[in-house]
Amino acid sequence: LFAGEAEFFWASAKAGDLPPMRGMEIAFAGRSNVGKSSLINALTNRNALARTSHTPGRTQQLNFFDVAKGRFTLVDMPGYGYAAVSKEKVQAWTQAIHDYLRGRTNLARVYVLVDARHGLKAIDGDVLDTLDSSAVSYQLVLTKIDELKPGEAERRVAQALEAIKKRAAAFPEILPTSSRTGEGMAELRAGVARLLTE
Ligand code: GDP
Repeated sequence: LFAGEAEFFWASAKAGDLPPMRGMEIAFAGRSNVGKSSLINALTNRNALARTSHTPGRTQQLNFFDVAKGRFTLVDMPGYGYAAVSKEKVQAWTQAIHDYLRGRTNLARVYVLVDARHGLKAIDGDVLDTLDSSAVSYQLVLTKIDELKPGEAERRVAQALEAIKKRAAAFPEILPTSSRTGEGMAELRAGVARLLTE
C-alpha cells in the first residue's frame, strides 16, 4: 500500500487554503520533535518525504501527499507546542488546523503522536479537545518506544489508554512505535489499510 508511491502535491500555509476533497485523508499530528517526520518517512518507505528536521517547529504548513496512486491522501499537520515561535504564528496554525478539521468529511482518522518518554502534555490535551469537539476520530501513537525498557513501554501504553478512555472520538487502542527499529509500523500500516476498506 505504501511502497514508494507517495507524492507531495499541496502545502497550505494559511487557513482555508486547502486542496479539494477527493478520496480519503489520513492525518498525522504531534508536538514538534515528537518524531512525526521520521514516522511518516518510515511508513512510506521514503527517505525525506516529510523532511526530518532537527529544528523543532520548522514544518509550519499542512502538507498533502498522494499515496499509492490516489488510494488515499496523507496529511502532515504542522507540529505544535514549540515555545519559541511567536504568538501570531501559533494563532495562525491553530486557525489553519481548525479550518482543516471543520467539515473535512473525507478525513478518516488523525494519528496523534506522543513521545513515549514524555506522555501526554497539556498541549496534546488541547489538540484532543479540538478533535473531540470536531468529532474527528483519532488514535494515539507513542513514538520513540525504543528509548524505553519493555516493562516501561507497557506502563506508558496503559497510562495513555487511561488518559483517553473518557474521550469521545479516541480510538481505544494505543500504537507503540519506533521509526528507528520499525516497531509498530506493520500495525500502523494495517490500521490505515483497514480504514481504506471500511
Ligand atoms: P518532528 O519534528 O516531529 O518531525 O520530529 P523528527 O522526525 O524530525 O524527529 C525529531 C528527533 O527525534 C530527531 O532527532 C530524530 O532522530 C528523533 N527520532 C525520531 N524518531 C525516533 C525514534 O523512533 N526513536 C528515537 N530514539 N529517536 C527518534
